[in-house]
Amino acid sequence: MKLILLGAPGSGKGTVAEKLVRDFKLQHISMGELLRQEIKCQSALGRQIKETIEKGNLVPDHLAIEIVRVVIKDKNNYILDGFPRTAHQAKDILDLKINKVLYLEISAEEAVNRISGRRVCEKGTHTYHIKYISSKKKGICDIDGTKLIQRKDDQEAAVRERFKVYAEKTKPLVDFYKKEGLLARINAAKSPEEVYQEIKKALDLSKYS
Ligand SMILES: [Zn+2]
Repeated sequence: MKLILLGAPGSGKGTVAEKLVRDFKLQHISMGELLRQEIKCQSALGRQIKETIEKGNLVPDHLAIEIVRVVIKDKNNYILDGFPRTAHQAKDILDLKINKVLYLEISAEEAVNRISGRRVCEKGTHTYHIKYISSKKKGICDIDGTKLIQRKDDQEAAVRERFKVYAEKTKPLVDFYKKEGLLARINAAKSPEEVYQEIKKALDLSKYS
């Protein structure tokens, strides 16, 4: 099974990916992760990517495509996450015969509600939420006793901006996959369990067993 996962910040994409990996033995291929690896091993390609990102630009289509194609060569069970990002990339990989594109939809309000409530400890390793996951002692990490803070990226204005940018960039992709008949819209405002049930239904798993 070959899947593409689309979802704005706060849509629960990471959780969904984890469950699909666990239940269906899919390989999670995260573009962000691939780029970080490439930069870390300081290949010629990695240096090129680092320069591009540091200038604030997106990795060019042909590079992104090349990186992904190398990783998925001869593989049949994976989830692509963070790729494709443009309609051009999506057209280029039509030959891969993706089975389904899961689009996790939430509203800007819900994204703000989920993300702006996040708190991380000063060590940055433990995550809490003012509504959903509280620490035993208010404002203090249960595990290492450091203070809980809100990351700049998680503040309401930043979340709204990230959400807007994501929606604008993703629209051409969503339109493209809709035309191809591959798009499954998932209501990601529901509970994680309900979202996952809806995904399993959309995947029509009887086809793959
Ligand atoms: Zn901590």
